Amino acid sequence: MKDFSALKEILDGARIAYSEKEYFSSISTFRVGGKIALTIFPGSDAELISVLDCLRNSGIEPFVAGRGSNILPDDDTYDGVVIKTDKVNRYYAAEDTIYAQCGLSTNKLCAVAMENSIDGFTDFYGIPGSVGGLLHNNGGAFGSSAEDIFVRGAFYDFDSGKMCELTREDMCFSYRSSILMSRRMFAVSAVFKGKPGRREDIAERMSRTAERRRDTQPLEYPSAGSVFLRPEGDFAGRLIEECGLKGCSVGGAEVSVKHAGFIVNKGGATSSDIRTLIDHIKKTVYERFGVMLRCEIDIL
Ligand SMILES: Cc1cc2nc3c(=O)[nH]c(=O)nc-3n(C[C@H](O)[C@H](O)[C@H](O)COP(=O)(O)OP(=O)(O)OC[C@H]3O[C@@H](n4cnc5c(N)ncnc54)[C@H](O)[C@@H]3O)c2cc1C
Repeated sequence: MKDFSALKEILDGARIAYSEKEYFSSISTFRVGGKIALTIFPGSDAELISVLDCLRNSGIEPFVAGRGSNILPDDDTYDGVVIKTDKVNRYYAAEDTIYAQCGLSTNKLCAVAMENSIDGFTDFYGIPGSVGGLLHNNGGAFGSSAEDIFVRGAFYDFDSGKMCELTREDMCFSYRSSILMSRRMFAVSAVFKGKPGRREDIAERMSRTAERRRDTQPLEYPSAGSVFLRPEGDFAGRLIEECGLKGCSVGGAEVSVKHAGFIVNKGGATSSDIRTLIDHIKKTVYERFGVMLRCEIDIL
């Protein structure tokens, strides 16, 4: 295991919380993953920036985790530093815009929009991630994606060690992709914009969105949502179902019988079970349809 004692001394001095007892299984919504050497819990945007500065100066590149709902960590120990952002979660709304820090949950962002009669956020309700995670892969649902509501954000550029502002154009958004996937940049906060609406209508549509998710997604089991990106002109779930793979399992990992695009942890699944199942799905779909599925989830 790497020695992080110098880093821990700095964190102690700055009174920034950290732990050497975290497991990825308690962070990832798949509920899999091994021990993490060091997990840091900044309590504010200023702390997050100073942690990133400190890691950069020490030559340590961290993994920044929001709610862990789009990752597949390894079963082995993660011999590095994870920054968990959920306490960097302040927000405020003014007219039709919302300022939100990276660790704010997407559901809370939607709730703030509803409480302030700001429309345009209802499709995101039920995505169990954070603002940072949403921006990272331009997440979305039901025809909306982050780029539709994002105006600008404050980002830490790990290469230069400087904060910078990125606008929607700078983010190079496309289907489940943004500049954050190819550059070492971390979201600290963002400004989103909707349009004026009626609070009751928004609340009603949010509850319909939640119902739609409950009806079509296996929310009763741990998962990371849709495992695969939509292939051109089709749906991964349809191809997987056509291959008869619903219910196919490896160890505790199973292709959901409710939504073939999801892999669920039926109990005791390991990361290795899920990886083996992913490979089997890819191979089967390729042999049948000639389509090579690509993962939407971030495999660590
Ligand atoms: C039941 C279920 C349903 C889902 N439905 C949807 C859906 O409808 N639409 C959809 O798009 N997704 C969906 N997902 C996937 C997931 O919730 C989203 O991708 C979510 O936005 C990920 O956010 P997170 O905070 O959990 O990210 P994490 O899983 O913590 O991280 C994912 C990636 O984002 C990066 N990241 C996190 N924070 C930052 C930051 N501050 N700056 C830069 N990079 C960062 C991480 O480093 C990692 O690479 C679903 C997942 C589940 C379990």
